[in-house]
Amino acid sequence: MRILLTNDDGVGSAGIWQAARALAPLGEVIVSAPDREQSGTGGAVSLLAPVRVHRARSPIPGVTAFAVEGTPADSVILALERFVEGPVDLLVSGINQGANFGEDIFLSGTVGAALQGYFRGIPSIAISVAALHRVRYRAAGVVLRALAGRFVEWSRATEAARGLTPTGIAARPPLLNINLPNVAPARMKGVEVTHLGHRAYADSIQEGDEGRRAWYWIRRERPDWEEEEGSDIWAIRRRKVSITPIITDVTAFAALPELTGIAQAMQEALTPPGRRPAEGGGGRGAE
Ligand code: MN
Repeated sequence: MRILLTNDDGVGSAGIWQAARALAPLGEVIVSAPDREQSGTGGAVSLLAPVRVHRARSPIPGVTAFAVEGTPADSVILALERFVEGPVDLLVSGINQGANFGEDIFLSGTVGAALQGYFRGIPSIAISVAALHRVRYRAAGVVLRALAGRFVEWSRATEAARGLTPTGIAARPPLLNINLPNVAPARMKGVEVTHLGHRAYADSIQEGDEGRRAWYWIRRERPDWEEEEGSDIWAIRRRKVSITPIITDVTAFAALPELTGIAQAMQEALTPPGRRPAEGGGGRGAE
C-alpha cells in the first residue's frame, strides 16, 4: 500500500510524524506538507507564484519527506503529480492539532488537503484531535492504523458497486473526516458515525493600530455549537471518536425549482428592451 501523508500544521508538526509512525508498517509512506503552519487556509492553491520545495528530514527510516513552500492543497497536488511514483492508495491529512467540525471543514486546511485526494478518487482521510494544547496524538495513530487497510478495501468495493457517474467518471468514495476527543484511549466512549454539526457564525475581531494603520485579527473564541444528537460535535462532547463521511456536491437541490422565478428575472434583464416578450398587460414592457 502506498500512502501519501500531509498536514496543514506543517512538515515539522508532531501530528504528522505520529501518523507516519502509525502508517509506516502498512507500506510505503511519503510525506508532503507545507514548510510552516497553514491552518485555516482551506483548499487554497497557489496559482500566482511558483512553489519551491525541498527535501525535509525524516525521523523514520524509509519515509521520504518534502517541505512545500505553499498551501496544504499545493503539497498534495505536487506530490500526486510529481514526487510520488506510481498510484497512491490512500491519502491521510493529519493528525491535526484542533478539531474540524461542521461547516468549519470549508475553512480547514486539513480537509482542504484531503479534498485533493478525494477529487481524484483516492480514498482520503482527514483526522484531527479536538484540542489545541497538550494534544494526545497516539490514539489517533492507533485509529489510523486500524482503519487504513479496511477503508481502502471498502472504497474499492464501493467504487465497484457504484460504477460510473452518468458522464462516465468513476464514482468517488466519500472522504472520511475523523475527530478524536483529547483523552486517553481508555476514557473514550466508543466510535460514532456522525453528520456535520452546525454552529453560529459570529467571529470576534480584535483590533489595534501600529501608529499609522489599524489592524484587525479574526479570533475564534469559543464557537457556539448546536448540540444536535448524532453530529460530530455531539459525539466529541460525549468523549466519542467521530467519523463523518463527506461528499462535495453541495448543490441545494430543493431550491432548484424555487429559483426559476429569479432566473427568469435575470434573463429579462439580459434581454434588450425591444426584444422582451410583451406579456399580457401587467408585465414590464418596453421602457
Ligand atoms: Mn491545523
